[in-house]
Amino acid sequence: MSDTELDIASEYEALLQFLYLAPVGLAQTTLTGEIVMINPLSARLLMPLSRDGNLANLFTALEPVAPELRKLVGDFAAPSGQVCDALRMQVNAGIPGKSEPQMLAITLLKLDALRLMAVIKDVTLEAQRERQLKQNEAWFNAILTGITDYALVSLDAQGCVVEWNASIGRVTGFSADAVLGQPFSIFYPADAITPDRLRDRLREADDNGWSLDDGWRIKADGQRFWGSAMVAPLRERTELSASATAPAPHPGEPAYCLVIRDISDKREANERLRQATACDHLTGIANRRAFFEAANLELERASRSPRQTSLILFDVDFFKQVNDSYGHPAGDAVLRQLATLLTATFRQVDVVARVGGEEFAVLLPSTSLEAATAVANRLREAVAAQTVQVDGTAIHYTLSGGVATLSDPANGLDALMKQADRALYAAKAAGRNRIVTEISA
Ligand code: GH3
Ligand code: MG
Ligand code: MG
Repeated sequence: MSDTELDIASEYEALLQFLYLAPVGLAQTTLTGEIVMINPLSARLLMPLSRDGNLANLFTALEPVAPELRKLVGDFAAPSGQVCDALRMQVNAGIPGKSEPQMLAITLLKLDALRLMAVIKDVTLEAQRERQLKQNEAWFNAILTGITDYALVSLDAQGCVVEWNASIGRVTGFSADAVLGQPFSIFYPADAITPDRLRDRLREADDNGWSLDDGWRIKADGQRFWGSAMVAPLRERTELSASATAPAPHPGEPAYCLVIRDISDKREANERLRQATACDHLTGIANRRAFFEAANLELERASRSPRQTSLILFDVDFFKQVNDSYGHPAGDAVLRQLATLLTATFRQVDVVARVGGEEFAVLLPSTSLEAATAVANRLREAVAAQTVQVDGTAIHYTLSGGVATLSDPANGLDALMKQADRALYAAKAAGRNRIVTEISA
């Protein structure tokens, strides 16, 4: 061996040592993800993701949780540099009330024309802390910014409006007659809230001191505006209920206040931020990560106040043939059209997401198996009855779907996903273009 070769060999040895002992997960791969070296921590973090216990390709192992990696590397034209920085990957759904969803972060560095270095960290705790911080921040923003255009409403223990004042009229246009005695969902578009969700907000307010949500609100004339709604328990009541003997407030007695603000001017900035982190780049609907976050939140709510939560998994039939016959861009157009159809079919409270290439998931809060199946079938029939026009070509396709309902939220999202997946598999096996349901075990 020449001196240079010796130098390289000893450098390589040092790198191996470092890889082996590093307190973060490290893996060196080729540009196509074939793993060349991996340290024990990395292997431990990735092992749950490998179906057959064989970690040969990093992208393949991470496909279910970060399908975009391969493309990110492919699109990275520079000879070297950082391909992605601490990209979050939700590894499992967690169990409501028991364990947090496990979250990994991956940073990819392109070393040269042949090699990638992946740095993998478990960021479960950080993600949890951030979520709490974000909520606090939203609360402070709500107090600190613009106090001119808000409506202040008091609600009774059931969430019904008990007082009217000029601010309600100013922001929403509702008269006293229209709102008194009505649940505060009157300020929401009908498909943006359910009675369960309304109770969740009150309970969240009891537990945390406040509950805040941004989204579409509605005025008396039916016009929508982007608003923030904050529910907070009235102080006297909080102090009263601290003593076990405190009487429950009567219907009609103020128990909470609700502040509604028109934040239409902030919507664009809000949306841009949401688009960047929570939306699928092809279709614009929620991505896999956002789906798991929203679905976990809903199951957490359901575990505290039981209700039926349904899940539908849709998968396009013979999608490979659509690509093969009309080309990949036409396939993309079909997926975009399907996403639009999904968004139009489901309610705003439902979580509609693209969870895989041609796979979509919809979580339906407070919805029975029958109701979820009915709407799934309605969508399936609409898809089967139409053709999509792509550059002058009419494309016809069909959908299969699996529906499951979780009656015991303690089972968690993983269990619900598995049930729906089994039902979907059965729909495929039975000939496709159909919806199969499975009742929870
Ligand atoms: P099945 O009825 O069993 O679901 O058949 P299928 O052909 O739909 O199933 P398969 O899973 O074999 O094929 C899915 C295809 O979806 C393969 C892949 O090329 C394609 N695909 C995945 N993501 C995208 C995408 O973003 N755009 C396009 N155009 N095609 C995609
Ligand atoms: Mg598929
Ligand atoms: Mg398919």
